[in-house]
Amino acid sequence: MASFERNSLAGQTALVTGASSGIGQATAIELARAGANVVVNFRSSDEGADETVRAIAALGQKAIAVQADVSREADILALFDEAERQLGPIDIVVSNAGLQKDAAIGEMTLDDWNAVISVNLTGGFLIGREAIRRFRAKGLRPEISPALGKLIFDSSVHQLIPWAFHANYAASKGGLKLLMETLAQEVAAEKIRINAVAPGAIATAINAEERESGEDDMLKLIPYGRIGEPADVGRVVAFLASDAADYITGQTIFVDGGMTLQPAFKGNG
Ligand code: NAD
Repeated sequence: MASFERNSLAGQTALVTGASSGIGQATAIELARAGANVVVNFRSSDEGADETVRAIAALGQKAIAVQADVSREADILALFDEAERQLGPIDIVVSNAGLQKDAAIGEMTLDDWNAVISVNLTGGFLIGREAIRRFRAKGLRPEISPALGKLIFDSSVHQLIPWAFHANYAASKGGLKLLMETLAQEVAAEKIRINAVAPGAIATAINAEERESGEDDMLKLIPYGRIGEPADVGRVVAFLASDAADYITGQTIFVDGGMTLQPAFKGNG
């Protein structure tokens, strides 16, 4: 197989959660650019989801928008059922949906904690478990890909870097790291590949306020000298989903302009 074909997702169907905005939207579009048809999940913004669907249609691929809350088990079963009914078996699943509810630990309510854990971590478990079940039911299609299925989680640099005033978020992403690695270990023999991307600071709605009030402070943390764009992450997800990455499983690729390089030490420490 020529190397350019290994980058192609032609003939494959991808499902992306939280794809009505930000990194999820850009990821859905990059997967389509690589040749996949895409299921665009959204929780509440049907306008954003329609925008994603239109961008994918303009690339000549099929796309459908399906509403589901990833923290609800019944929603996820219905999401996969509807996806398969309309676009056939799913080859690629991207668990991207996530949120922040920031507070100092003394003020963090149990609701703040549960809201973040239930979407970022429990949502990852529910989506991951269902993806694996559906990959198994689909069976291997060697003419399409040597892998039975590809699952990619959107984690964060905060699976590694502690983050004061964001205990719920950092705990959710730390949990996601070992969820991803454990699932990858458990199902690798079935030719299911599971990986993660860990973005640094990417310009999306999740950090719009922080960028407005403190972009200069953010840039001090980024050796590469710019805030990331959602497509910076989407392109890496498309690579991990492709057969060019066929020997990669259980890994996290940091897409962070060097944020994890301990920038405070760059001037001779
Ligand atoms: P965003 O707010 O634009 O996107 C998050 C998406 O998740 C939204 O579309 C939202 O509707 C969806 N969502 C939230 N709860 C949901 C639920 N219960 N069910 C279904 N969808 C739900 O922000 P983003 O930056 O694009 O975030 C995407 C992912 O990237 C998140 O997991 C986030 O933690 C991660 N991330 C972002 C950054 C960054 O700097 N932007 C950095 C590290 C990690």
